[in-house]
Amino acid sequence: MSLERGREVNIPARITVLGSGTSSGVPMIGCICAVCRSTDPRDRRLRPSIHVEVPGWASILVDAGPDLRQQALTYGITRLDAVLFTHTHADHILGLDDIRGFNFTQQKPIPGYATTGAWESIRKMFYYIFDGVPREGGEIARIETRDIEGPFAVGGVSIVPVPLWHGRLPILGFRFGSFAYLTDCSAIPDQSWPLVAGVDTLVIDALRHKKHSTHFTVAEALEAIARIAPRRAFLTHMAHDLSHAETNARLPAGVELAYDGLVLDASVDAS
Ligand SMILES: [Zn+2]
Ligand SMILES: [Zn+2]
Ligand SMILES: [Zn+2]
Repeated sequence: MSLERGREVNIPARITVLGSGTSSGVPMIGCICAVCRSTDPRDRRLRPSIHVEVPGWASILVDAGPDLRQQALTYGITRLDAVLFTHTHADHILGLDDIRGFNFTQQKPIPGYATTGAWESIRKMFYYIFDGVPREGGEIARIETRDIEGPFAVGGVSIVPVPLWHGRLPILGFRFGSFAYLTDCSAIPDQSWPLVAGVDTLVIDALRHKKHSTHFTVAEALEAIARIAPRRAFLTHMAHDLSHAETNARLPAGVELAYDGLVLDASVDAS
């Protein structure tokens, strides 16, 4: 860690992949394929999310999918300074209600960061959280909505939103210092390549081998990785088409499949 003009750089951060699976999760309900029946724990994939812990600075969740409760319990996430949303597909927001657990223990609303358009969808989906109508019985989640309009900070930690195409839907990836998380993408727009230039560690979408309209295939993810040229890259948001062991064995040096519980070190900037 060092100080540059009031700005601290190279603060150690710890990234945990909470879920590396596609929207259905792996195994998929009712499926008896080899991957869904695999006994390799790396073939069991919860819905996509990561946790970014910057000790002494911030605890940040990226996306709140339907497996949030299980992920928080498994990986010991006990407090949050913010939840960031990449986009509003069900596999990224359906756990929003479980933010209540953090409200209870921290005794305050949790700041949420999303684009204005994403908040519109979240407000519709979770009308009972945002309509201001008092409800009898159990507590509702308390989220402080903040619009992402450019680079921002959580607990002083600098975060750069990275615009991505998810089919025709504009969504966000996020860069935290030396690390970038680009989930759910099928194309990287011209203006976003410079935003991920020089990253050391990259986690990027790779659904399967077969072409898909809203996700990179493994081959497309490898092309993007070659252009970004991080020291190491990990594929995420995988469907049951990809066996961990078999797929991983064929990836080029420096590229691996992510798996649930994978921990990556990174360094971030803060002020
Ligand atoms: Zn997704
Ligand atoms: Zn299957
Ligand atoms: Zn999506």
